[in-house]
Amino acid sequence: MHLRFHPYTLELRHRFTLATSSRTSTPSILTEVEQDGIVGYGEASMPPYLGENVETASQFLNQIKLPDITSITDIPDILRKVDLITLGNTAAKASVDIALHDWIGKVEMKPLYTLWGLNPTLNPFTSFTIGIDTPDIIIEKTKQAVEFKILKVKLGSLDDKEIIQAIRSVSKQPLFIDANQGWTNKEQALRMIEWLADQNVLLIEQPMPKSQKEDMAWLKERSSLPLIADESVQRLSDIKAVAALFHGINIKLMKCTGLNEARAMITEARNLGLKIMLGCMTETSCAISAAAQIASLVDWCDLDGALLIKNDPFKGAYLNNGSIIATDLPGLGLVKV
Ligand code: MG
Repeated sequence: MHLRFHPYTLELRHRFTLATSSRTSTPSILTEVEQDGIVGYGEASMPPYLGENVETASQFLNQIKLPDITSITDIPDILRKVDLITLGNTAAKASVDIALHDWIGKVEMKPLYTLWGLNPTLNPFTSFTIGIDTPDIIIEKTKQAVEFKILKVKLGSLDDKEIIQAIRSVSKQPLFIDANQGWTNKEQALRMIEWLADQNVLLIEQPMPKSQKEDMAWLKERSSLPLIADESVQRLSDIKAVAALFHGINIKLMKCTGLNEARAMITEARNLGLKIMLGCMTETSCAISAAAQIASLVDWCDLDGALLIKNDPFKGAYLNNGSIIATDLPGLGLVKV
């Protein structure tokens, strides 16, 4: 199995502002695996605040020697060995995971979801993200998002109520709220959650900094809305520790090394009675199509990553009546454009 890769800069349609950062592009690496003349595509998307970049990912990928594959059951063991090469590098690892799964689906001439017995028409609605911005721009972006059944709103700035009021002046759509650790006072966070509960909000992602564990436990006891861990949970081994602090977890392929571990995380979260959100970074249709293969297993989807970039090199999973659905083509269902 041959592995190759090249850097690719994702150009965002709009400047993307969160509680802690702002940017107009995202560095990524596009990965390909090839065996028997069949190519599988993968991707590592690396928003700067996560600590990976083109250089670290390239160094990591250069260390990998992949054996030939004969069956889908070979893949978990190969990924375990890839994972053991170094700590971290989760996006680079995800790019290998995604490419191998695309490849095996193409060899079997079936969509990956079929190999796993899943049905993508059951994928929950995806949210569409509205970044932190001026009320005028937020109103404009909200008006453009009418085809989405849920909006995801980034809060954690000083103008949180103003942002929600701007959206509510033009839309009744249900909201996911993502505070990106932006609320640092538990009483204020609780008052904000109580106010949001009357605004047709479905859940709150990462209200407080991940270091404030006692405050999060306090908040979980009192919150009338489900609290979902994002920055507080990265991989399978993190889930048990957050079960007492949150009602659910946000799984992202780039955080957790890909589909293989994401599926294990879904099983673990269910065993612990946790809700599950499947999220993404700004990503091409490659990684989004990978997530779309398993989205029928989760409660909430936030898979708008490919819709936020203007130079998507793939066509794949698409928006269908509010949900991101994988195509019925083999593997991840991708076509290069
Ligand atoms: Mg988040």
